[in-house]
This record gives sequence, structure tokens and C-alpha cells, in this order.
Amino acid sequence: MPGTDSEATAAREASLPARAKIAVTAGRVAAALSQKAGRGSGSVIGGKVALKLDPDLLATLAEHLDVVLVSATNGKTTTTRLIAEALRAAGPVVSNALGANMPAGITAALAGGSDAKFGVIEVDEKYLAGVARDTRPKAIALLNLSRDQLDRAAETRMMAEKWREGLKDTDAVIIANADDPLVTWAASSCRKVVWVAAGQAWKEDAWSCPSCGGVMQRPGDDWFCQDCGFRRPQPHWALQGTHVIDPQRGAWPIQLQLPGRANLANATSSAAVAAVFGVPPQVALQRMQTVTAVAGRYDVVSYLGRDVRLLLAKNPAGWLETFSLIDQPPAPVVLSVNAMDADGTDTSWLWDVDYERLAGHPIFVMGQRKLDLAVRLEVAGLQFQVVDTLEQAVQMAPPGRIEAIANYTAFQQLRKAVAN
Ligand SMILES: [Zn+2]
Repeated sequence: MPGTDSEATAAREASLPARAKIAVTAGRVAAALSQKAGRGSGSVIGGKVALKLDPDLLATLAEHLDVVLVSATNGKTTTTRLIAEALRAAGPVVSNALGANMPAGITAALAGGSDAKFGVIEVDEKYLAGVARDTRPKAIALLNLSRDQLDRAAETRMMAEKWREGLKDTDAVIIANADDPLVTWAASSCRKVVWVAAGQAWKEDAWSCPSCGGVMQRPGDDWFCQDCGFRRPQPHWALQGTHVIDPQRGAWPIQLQLPGRANLANATSSAAVAAVFGVPPQVALQRMQTVTAVAGRYDVVSYLGRDVRLLLAKNPAGWLETFSLIDQPPAPVVLSVNAMDADGTDTSWLWDVDYERLAGHPIFVMGQRKLDLAVRLEVAGLQFQVVDTLEQAVQMAPPGRIEAIANYTAFQQLRKAVAN
């Protein structure tokens, strides 16, 4: 029913303290002006203005919500979406679905929350402790920690330390990936932890013990430190094949429209989160099945008469997950890499990615850093062609669905290209 939403919003806003009310209104005006000026949706600017006028606004807006925060290096936007769908079984949800995951974007999303019961919020790793302090979440999901772009292992370790320090006094239930030693280290200072065996494909950032710096032993799926005894906790939930195993050893099939092992892991963590809010795994998983693309990721689009699947990979761990879900050779693959601020301007991370896995695929490289990428593929001993546009690549590609993998701004450009 048109109007119902805005009536509910108006009613709720009327109940806000005066300062918060003014801040929300000012934020909305700023967002509208920014939008008119053609600068995107304006929601982040609106959130910034609102927070400036009322620094407690995020806390005020979250007060009446049951909040879950989701953070990780990879998969947080998708997992946020899966949890949001699952919790809709129990009531209306407000979420920063578009991935604006710093305080201003989160504030803007919650300000538009009308009559929501649940707040499902993606949070940038660096802001997690602060947002947790402000929003007093009931649950926090920690999925994985790996180097992002240029960040090296030392910085990843520092991020784990920051989480550990910032979350140790929280009342939230922490849902943490027991297969990721850094996440385990971060979560193990918390009072209430639900451990999930969600797997870890990228192990390069966790060979040294986060607790003592000793060498980590990793036999099979297990891990432990010989020096200090820090070890993998016994998981309550697990991903086993394509099933979620719950704490009572019940097995629930995962049937997602999203591809890949990483999303099976995301669904497992999401089911564990949903259980904290009283939604049973079978109900949660059924609702997750409705999710198709997330902010354009995994979208199969028709472009120049061809099927093109758009895949986002922002860092070495992300590229590795992406390679595991592309079609077998001879499926053509387009790789696009940019190096703008949002991507990180240093592309030396290209050398951390195992491009050898693309052997047998016809490969096309494009983007600002196509020459860096070409050098990397040359060293990997791969055949490839350098192109200027997606159009060129599509025209030269042999038959079959085209897998287009791109980093952040390159991905936005691909989305734009196929929309025209
Ligand atoms: Zn140790």
C-alpha cells in the first residue's frame, strides 16, 4: 500500500528526540541536493550531515532495533543480504543493502528504516568496534580476515587485534568462523561465541599464530599452534558439502541461486545468525534461496547477444574464490583491473593471485592496469589478448557464457557498459 511506509516513518520520526529529528531532516535535504547535483544517491552525504548535527544519531536510530552486524574482508555484502532475507521471516528488516558500510552510510540506511524490527548491517572492518558500541547489537557475524589489496599480513593481524580489543566487552553473541585463525583470535576474548566451521580457501595470511607468532600447523581442516596451544575451537555449526549442520546435528540442504563454495559458507554463517534471532535453519535457508544477485554481483546479463556473468574480486582471497566458481574451459574469461583510490593504487597484489588456474580459458584483459595484468599472465605462461573495451572482448570471444571478473571500480564500469 503506498503511503503506509511513509506514514510509519513519520510516526517513528515524531517519536525521535528533537535533535535527532532535525539531524534526520537535514540529512535528507543534503541527500536530495546531492542527488540533484548528479552525485549518486546522496545517502552517504546525508548521513554525514546528520551525524555532524547529532553525533548520537546512530545510537538513537538503533535503539528500537534488534541489530546484527556483519564484518569480514570478503562476502559481507552477500551475507548481509542473506541474513536480511532470513530475518524477514520474523519481521520487517532495515539494512544497508547497497553496501555503504561506514557510519554515515549506516546512519542513512537506518534513518530510512520506517517500522523495522531488525537492523541487518554490513560494517567496514575498520569501523566495527565503534559501530558495535553505538548500535548495541544482539549478534555480530565475523566471517574472515585476509589482506585487502596492498595490505600485508601484519595489517591483517592488527585488524584482528583491533576486533579483539574492541569487542571484548560486548554483550552480543559473536558468530565466528572457527576455520579462520585470525577471526578465532579476534572472537576468543568475547563472552558468548557461536563457532561456525565455514571453511577457509585462502590460507596465506594465517601461517603464523596470531597469539604468539609461532608457526601454525594445519593438518587437513584443523589448525593449531605448537608453541602456545592456541587451536581451532570445536564448531557448533558446520558447512558439510552442501548442507548446514546445526548444533543438534540436524542437516539442512542449502539451495542457493548464488554460485560457489564461498556462498555456501556465507549461508551457513547466516543460518547460525538467524538462529540467534529465533529463526530455525530450514526457514532461514528457504528464504535465502530467493536471493539472486547482490548489488549486481553474480548477475548474468545479456550483452551484444551474449551471456556475460559479472563477478567482483577485490583482493587475492576474493580472486581465488572467484576462480573456483567460473565455468570450466573453454568458457571465455574477461579480466579487468583498475587502480583508482577505491581499488588501491598499487597493483603488486596481482602477484599474490594464482592466475595459473585460468589455464585453458580464452582470456581477455582490460582496465587501467591491463598491461600490469598482461605481464602477470605472461609470467604465468597463459595465452591472452589485450582489449580496450568489453565490447571488443565479447566480439572476439569464442562461444559460451563469458565470465567477466573485475576489481572494484572496474566492476562498476562493466555494470555501466552492459546497462547501455
Ligand atoms: Zn601460538
